[in-house]
Amino acid sequence: MQPKTKILLDEDQMPRQWYNILTDLPSPMDPPLHPGTHKPLVPDDLTPIFPMELIRQEMSDKRMIDIPEDVRDVLRLWRPSPLYRATRLEKHLKTPAKIYYKWEGVSPAGSHKPNTSVAQAYYNMKAGVERIATETGAGQWGSALAFATMLYGLDCTVYMVRSSYTQKPYRKSMMQVWGAECIPSPSTKTNSGKAVLAKDPDTPGSLGIAISEAVEDAATHANTNYALGSVLNHVCLHQTVIGLESREQLAMVDDYPDVVIGCVGGGSNFAGISFPFAGDKMTGKHPGVDIVGVEPASCPTLTKGLYTYDFGDVAGLTPLMKMFTLGHDFVPPSIHAGGLRYHGDSPIVSKLVHDGVMRAVSYHQSEVFEAAQTFARTEGIIVAPETSHAVKAAIDCALKCRETGEAKTILFNCSGHGNFDMSAYDAFYAGQLVDYEYPDALIKEALGRLPKV
Ligand SMILES: *Cc1c(COP(=O)(O)O)cnc(C)c1O
Repeated sequence: MQPKTKILLDEDQMPRQWYNILTDLPSPMDPPLHPGTHKPLVPDDLTPIFPMELIRQEMSDKRMIDIPEDVRDVLRLWRPSPLYRATRLEKHLKTPAKIYYKWEGVSPAGSHKPNTSVAQAYYNMKAGVERIATETGAGQWGSALAFATMLYGLDCTVYMVRSSYTQKPYRKSMMQVWGAECIPSPSTKTNSGKAVLAKDPDTPGSLGIAISEAVEDAATHANTNYALGSVLNHVCLHQTVIGLESREQLAMVDDYPDVVIGCVGGGSNFAGISFPFAGDKMTGKHPGVDIVGVEPASCPTLTKGLYTYDFGDVAGLTPLMKMFTLGHDFVPPSIHAGGLRYHGDSPIVSKLVHDGVMRAVSYHQSEVFEAAQTFARTEGIIVAPETSHAVKAAIDCALKCRETGEAKTILFNCSGHGNFDMSAYDAFYAGQLVDYEYPDALIKEALGRLPKV
């Protein structure tokens, strides 16, 4: 019998609760620290920029957290998202492995990011906030937040990394349609931006710099809060709908993954697909599941960074978080997978990698575009350059199964479409992609400037 191509859940089977992995960790997290005093953070430290409900979720000891009905109502526009069996890719690779992908490109913004932007905009609206300031790398988060703030009647200011602002003008156009203001970063609107421009007027910008600008904007305006599209615990929490749905969908075809794969920028889509399975692993239900995060060799946070306390931004305004980091003033090269250019990583993902529950691999630009082309020519979907890292790891895993004869079940998160990233594909076909391995010496140097805790 032909296997099902699309494994679909009904709308009323969409998760009613998010999964909080903090309750299943074998040892507690190292707490975030106040940037000035280096003392463990208390909720009041965060109230100038986040609504209380999100602060509660950030530190919650509840295993399952209810998704508000008003949030589920919006998520229903595209959720539950489909799980696909990649039969054409399997055939092309001549692999005995089964490859499944969870397709998050069906959201209005085209990626997994609205899963959290909708929840964040909702809690800010409930708290009476009028405007949200944020940063965006490749533009996906900015467009996802613009979409969500519009639905709840909030204003939105987006600081967009300058290299992406010029490389990817259409994300900016989307933000305009949804009513947000988009400013190239570093800008002259903030002191953090001015300081960076004074040192280096031609800087391509970085997520770390843009975060400093957005946090400063929120902290200096009473009606304005800040929102982060990745890294933080509450963001990873909101993304767990991806893995929760995937587990249900695989159960519908009597399957469970041997390998779970996601690309890693700040870690949120990887957290989303993997946390429910990591929970199964840590609680002994499925101890053997292999969980793999994939990052670019040009920004090798998990594979070459240090597991230590660092700031989330360049200016040192954010709390210190224990995470894998390349140093908070690390400026990664302008690769096309802009959404993966971040010096740090989710503290939870970092801890799970450090503790051996998950592992990480890295790939170069040209080999991931090669994989994305194979995927597009078998499954049809043109994935985002970020997503192509997960595609590459899934293909490699399936090819290994061809050698060993193992019929593994591979699940990967297909985090978004690449319809606004065609200039990156053009560069690939023109042979203009440069494979850049960030030099160890520069990493060492940046790590030498870590805060002393
Ligand atoms: C933003 C983005 C990523 C990387 O961010 P994470 O927080 O690591 O998930 C990956 N894929 C797509 C399509 C994105 O938009």
